[in-house]
Formats: sequence, C-alpha cells, structure tokens
Amino acid sequence: MTRCVALLSGGLDSMLAIRVMQEQGIEVESLNFKTMFTCCQDTSAQAARALGTNITVIGQEDDYLDLVRAPQYGYGKGANPCVDCRIYMFERAYKFMEAVDAQFIISGEVVGQRPMSQKRSDLKVISTNSGLEDLLLRPLSAKLLPPTKPERDGLVDRERLYDFQGRSRKGLIRLAREFGFTEDMIPTPSTGCALTEPEFGNKVHDLIKIQLNDTRWDYDALNVGRHFRFNEATKVILGRNHKENTQLEYMHRMEDATSTSFLEPISFKGPNALVTGPSTDDALEYAAGLIHRYGHSVDGEDNIVQVMQAETEFNLIAQPTDRSAQDKTIASAVNLRPVGS
Ligand code: SF4
Repeated sequence: MTRCVALLSGGLDSMLAIRVMQEQGIEVESLNFKTMFTCCQDTSAQAARALGTNITVIGQEDDYLDLVRAPQYGYGKGANPCVDCRIYMFERAYKFMEAVDAQFIISGEVVGQRPMSQKRSDLKVISTNSGLEDLLLRPLSAKLLPPTKPERDGLVDRERLYDFQGRSRKGLIRLAREFGFTEDMIPTPSTGCALTEPEFGNKVHDLIKIQLNDTRWDYDALNVGRHFRFNEATKVILGRNHKENTQLEYMHRMEDATSTSFLEPISFKGPNALVTGPSTDDALEYAAGLIHRYGHSVDGEDNIVQVMQAETEFNLIAQPTDRSAQDKTIASAVNLRPVGS
C-alpha cells in the first residue's frame, strides 16, 4: 500500500492535495503543525474528518523561537519567517513519515501563491534544507516542478497531478467542486498564524529588536492586551476587557513570568496592568498613568491603583504623566521591522 504524509493546515490547498492523492488510491496520514502563534486546530481536525484521514497534531519545540528571532530567509509582511518555519515543519514531518512507514510527503503549496514562501526558488530551498529533497511532492503544482521520487518510482501518476500557479483561487475552487467538496468544506483564505498580522508582527519585532533577553513568557504575553514600551528593559501591558484583565493577573503568577508588578485600580474602573522588566518608580507612575488614561477615573478624587509585587503590596495615586497621556501602543508603531526584511 502506498502511503504518504500530508501537512494539513485545514486550508483549501492542503485539503485538495490530500484529495488528489486519495483519487490515486494513496493512503494519507495527516499532520497538523501547531505553534504558539497558530490557531485553528479545530479547522484542521474538521478537514481531516471530511477527508476521512487520520490527523496527528505536533507542536513546536523550544528552539522554534530561535528561528522567529533570527530567520535565515527573512520575514514576510508581519514577523512571519515562513521559509524557515516550513523547513522546521518538514524536518519534523520527515521523522513522522518514517515513524508511520510512509514513502513520501505532500503539501498544498502552489507555485507563486505566497510571495514569502512559495516562489519556485523557495520551494526548492524548503525541500533541500528540510532534508526531504525529492520526497516532497506538491500535487497542485507538480507539473511545473521536476518529477519527485514517488512519481519516478511509479507510486504516483504524474499525469493526474496539476499545474496551478499564482494567487488566484478560481481554479482551485473549481477543482474542489469537481471533487464534490460542499460549500462548507471550502474555507476562506487565512493563514491562522498571528505572525502574519502586521500589528502582531510589530510586537514581535519590538521584542526581538529591543528586549534582547526575551523569554517564551514574553511571546505568550503578546497575545494579551495593549503593549507600551517604557524603555529598553521595561514594557507595560494593559488589559482591554474583563477577560484580559483576569488573564494578566493569572500570567503574573506564572513561575516564568518576567512581569515584576501587577497593577489594579481599586477606587475606579479601569484596566489591570503588568510591568515587565524593572519596576522603577518612573515605570510604575507611567503604568498607573496609562490605567488613568484608559480607565474611568473620578474627577476630584484620588484614583487609587494597587501595586502587587513578589514580596510587597502598596497603593499609588494614578495620574497621567506627559508620556502616558499620549504614548502609542507598540502594535501601531512604525519602523520596528529589521532593515531589509
Ligand atoms: S504562516 Fe506562520 S505557521 Fe505558516 S509558515 Fe508562516 S510562520 Fe509558519
């Protein structure tokens, strides 16, 4: 029995690539790669169910952040190091392929569809640097690429593969309909990866460029709240709603937290805040000023904020400082991207 492993994101391309293999009687084991920046595991599980394949989810390892910090092949529009990330995924998929006794790997990549990672030259780099070489087959664009080993060995009929290229989805949607995909099986395009979003990317680039000793906790914290940079070592994170206010309190209690103070308004309604890095008096005043700015402070009264630190608790009167009254969030900053990327 011929068996392949498919990287299944849950998007249309990966679903079609799987169906092309199934049409040739090839058994497909699906693999979904999850990072701390991706969502949508439900979507990939639903896609696997619709296609009748098993799905295994594998997560990033600790070294994934190294490639986010310094990708060999650069970033896309946000902080997405797609070529490096694909190499990383396929290296792990290769091990999985051997473990499940499959003969090759497929992916839904389409030549020229994504400027960052699907140029013809990128596809070659990904195949080579992942160690897969010609064990990596892209069924949707295979006719535009040199024959892979499974094609040469007769495991896959090259004549029944495709030559899609470019960004248009029209041909892919037509093929999906020919395969009998119902409308609800055709997902709208989305990477499901926060790194591709420019605003989130700004927060990542800020950590990479400015806060040189960043940790995994710092990256997790990027998913929560408004982020303001106070200085090279210190940042303030404000909750945007009740859920985030609770999350910030929870995150502050985590063992690996880099936050040094948790601030909560106690005499007026307003956001909770975390200070990451040194909680100097100036940094705390700035954080309290941000709470004042984004909260419902009461005119003519002391607007009190409670500060909780590892060993101590005390109160501050929140009032806007020159900076806290006008600073913009890191997400809306400009020029955070590395030069040349
Ligand atoms: S979009 Fe995100 S998960 Fe996908 S290849 Fe790029 S960095 Fe990796």
